[in-house]
Amino acid sequence: MNCKELIKCMHFSAIKHRSQRRKDPEKTPYINHPIGVAYILTEEAGITDLNILQAALLHDTIEDTDTTLDELKQEFGEEVAAIVAEVSDDKTLSKQERKKLQILHASKASPSAKLVKLADKLYNLRDLNHVTPEGWSEERVQEYFIWAAKVVNQIRGINSALESSLDVIFKERNVEL
Ligand code: NDP
Ligand code: ZN
Repeated sequence: MNCKELIKCMHFSAIKHRSQRRKDPEKTPYINHPIGVAYILTEEAGITDLNILQAALLHDTIEDTDTTLDELKQEFGEEVAAIVAEVSDDKTLSKQERKKLQILHASKASPSAKLVKLADKLYNLRDLNHVTPEGWSEERVQEYFIWAAKVVNQIRGINSALESSLDVIFKERNVEL
């Protein structure tokens, strides 16, 4: 019953992210992002694996809400929880350290976690192309593209559709690959 499992994730994620907004000036509800990441995986990457799609819907719950790994294990099983854990930064570290570690660790992630990471980056870069978050300089936006390219460069050979879409975006920004 794939539908039931996916709706359960969407519901769980919506409750966990309910008070959060994206950084765009319109303050889009945060839940648009995990749903959009799962949608990129089904529509653009051709992914139908339930665990991966569940993890996509839940991918920011540990990092950005009070959700624990144990809670995810209990609600959605070991495999889904493990993928979410793999794509979650350690919030005890500084932002700069976390960004450095994403580049260092990306190549060691499981194929499932790599797919979620690629779709997550693609969604965020499209968001930044759509509108600049409040308080962000053009330089900061460009720095984000350069950093994202460094992460994506560590995750090559996983999904050609996602890679090509990301590469077009990097080229448009004149980011070296
Ligand atoms: P943040 O990590 O604070 O913000 C980017 C993250 O916000 C994304 O990865 C995404 O994460 C989430 N997000 C929410 N809404 C949006 C949106 N509309 N568009 C895109 N992403 C969105 O910012 P930085 O990546 O810039 O990280 C901070 C770093 O920036 C520090 O290392 C610091 O050194 C540097 N910095 C640079 C400045 C400059 O002017 N050059 C100024 C200040 C800091 P998710 O997928 O989890 O939602
Ligand atoms: Zn995300």
